[in-house]
Amino acid sequence: MLEIIPLVLGPVATNAYLVGDPKSHSAVVIDPAWDGELIVEEAKRYGWNIEQLWLTHAHFDHIGGIAGVVKGSHPSPKIALHPADLPLYSAQGGAALFGMRLEATPEPTDRLKHGQILTLGEQAFEVRHCPGHTPGHVVFYCAAQKVMFCGDVIFWGGIGRTDLPGGDYDALIRSIQTQILTLPNETRLLSGHGGETTVGVERRDNPFLS
Ligand SMILES: [Zn+2]
Ligand SMILES: [Zn+2]
Repeated sequence: MLEIIPLVLGPVATNAYLVGDPKSHSAVVIDPAWDGELIVEEAKRYGWNIEQLWLTHAHFDHIGGIAGVVKGSHPSPKIALHPADLPLYSAQGGAALFGMRLEATPEPTDRLKHGQILTLGEQAFEVRHCPGHTPGHVVFYCAAQKVMFCGDVIFWGGIGRTDLPGGDYDALIRSIQTQILTLPNETRLLSGHGGETTVGVERRDNPFLS
């Protein structure tokens, strides 16, 4: 059984998820949003080593803590991103558009592919490509734990914005219909911003999907 510690970090209150396997003491950070030092401290409190960073997408508010996590973790964790978001990553996730600058951030070490399986301890996570909010947005689905980390694709009562460079509204709706609403209703959705929801609640109530 994995433990999921949500941390709300950075200038636009982004959810970073510290996911740990108490058995092997290894941990993944999904979207190390901001304040990497703080994420490392939190992992230490649980006795976990951060071995991997999985990025849903490369917006600045989801990658701003990478430099700090890498500095505080030995050996350096892997950094996994979909290649279609590499240009955005190289442009500091669009930080300049919001009048911000990020600390120098190490390059991704792994390129994510649709259908790829990532593992943490004994748990498998399926990578699903969900373009629309950004071209290389992916979500991470753990069927055994009935949980999906969905970044900025879908929120409790909302959907990701598509007005930033690389955004595509039709692609976003298609991603939600084919990659998220096809999952069982009880699947927990842990988004990049705001509170937790489920596939069933969004299928029924999300005003952008009716
Ligand atoms: Zn975003
Ligand atoms: Zn975001």
